[in-house]
Amino acid sequence: MTGDWIDMAADPAHVKRERAKARELRATDWWRAKLQQGVCHYCGKRVGAANLTMDHVIPVARGGRSTRGNCVPCCKECNNSKKYLTPAEQILGTLFGDAQ
Ligand SMILES: [Zn+2]
Repeated sequence: MTGDWIDMAADPAHVKRERAKARELRATDWWRAKLQQGVCHYCGKRVGAANLTMDHVIPVARGGRSTRGNCVPCCKECNNSKKYLTPAEQILGTLFGDAQ
């Protein structure tokens, strides 16, 4: 049932552009400082810089942008469980028992 009501269509040009911007953002001092903190934005666990990846709060595939406000450090566990859902959709999924 997951996926029926989620429009996965993304503008390829948007995705390409924002992915490139994300690469640039990862090279900034701002991002390095985030990694140095070593804390996952979602679960708050201290996992260390090596275990953090950049995550888009609103996924690029869903129209999100590679801005400082939309990019957060995320542990692999949270990254895997998040996939392409927005935070609001994750909450909905939890409410309806369809969080997988
Ligand atoms: Zn986490």
